[in-house]
Amino acid sequence: MNYLDKFRYKYDNLNEIVHLETKKIKEKTYNNQNLKNLLSSSVKVSHSLFPTIAKSIDNVFSKLGINNNFNFFITANHVETQAACAMMPQSSNAEIIITSKMVELLNAQELESVIAHEVSHFYYQHNLYPEVNKARNRTEFLNFLHLSRAAEISADRAGLIGSGDIENSLRSMLKISTGLSDKYISFNFSSYLDQLRELKELKGNQNLAYSTHPTFLNRMQALIWFSMSREYNEYFKTNKTGTYDLSKVDDKINDSIKKVAGDELDISNKEIINKALLWGALRIYLADKKFSKEDQQRFEKRFGEKVTISIKSLLNISKMSIIEKRVEEAFNEAEVLLKTDKQKIINTLKEIFAETVDHSEDSKSILEKLILKLDAN
Ligand SMILES: [Zn+2]
Repeated sequence: MNYLDKFRYKYDNLNEIVHLETKKIKEKTYNNQNLKNLLSSSVKVSHSLFPTIAKSIDNVFSKLGINNNFNFFITANHVETQAACAMMPQSSNAEIIITSKMVELLNAQELESVIAHEVSHFYYQHNLYPEVNKARNRTEFLNFLHLSRAAEISADRAGLIGSGDIENSLRSMLKISTGLSDKYISFNFSSYLDQLRELKELKGNQNLAYSTHPTFLNRMQALIWFSMSREYNEYFKTNKTGTYDLSKVDDKINDSIKKVAGDELDISNKEIINKALLWGALRIYLADKKFSKEDQQRFEKRFGEKVTISIKSLLNISKMSIIEKRVEEAFNEAEVLLKTDKQKIINTLKEIFAETVDHSEDSKSILEKLILKLDAN
């Protein structure tokens, strides 16, 4: 296993969205006019033309331990400090385009961190993530954005492995985010991270909630936390043990990104989960066509008194078909959840079923149908 797999950020997980038909995902192709333009107006990197850049590229592939099936291009752009990776899904090679401003701004080691970052997008097949604008509704849109930000965290770790030193990565991030060169920057990272604290105190920023990339503040903090993990310190043989396990670090990063982006994603996911649980549970209890005293008590314990009272009055005036319709609606909404959240619903419904008194064939088949609805990937 390559270290890129070992260090992959755990929330950067393509399996969370397997419910999208694979074919649909594959439609995301190379058909990007912007990239086409870049390619037609760019110059391919070779040892004879751009020896120092070519050397940086070689260094990266030897550090990452993967084959160089890439073409690198430099494009004239003195305004934007950018690098991009263009690839056909499932193909074994890719084009990486770097702007001239990027090359001018970064030293050879800093450039290595950028090159490794882009190469890893290909290695991790991040192009298979769905485009955020293909989301079917707002919650799915927010979930896609969250995954897209997670992809950047993994790629930044690859940047660190590829450049061999966290300072290279942090310096390149600071230069890219400010557009300034060494001449102006004193690399005092902790004072930069104070800005993150201020940002969190402002309870996030609406624009960041809709950004496909985490802020550089989050990304630098994520990298610094990564460098405090046990796994990192083992890999770089620092003779330190590391403060946290990598999994714990990943959780901290996830929380921090959410704080900056605002909690709309969590809130809307939670609402959908609760709704599915509530209607799913009720459907299981009603398998025998009655909402018995025991059922009501269990229901109340889980969902509270207020909800139970309103469900009881709804049952008094409604036919079963109305209830079934509400169940259907709740489970349709739950389709856009990430796999982990769907699994949470399934597990809780199983618990609820296990607590019911009768365990009749009817309630069992209802449970199975509900599970199938979430599981139909
Ligand atoms: Zn990236």
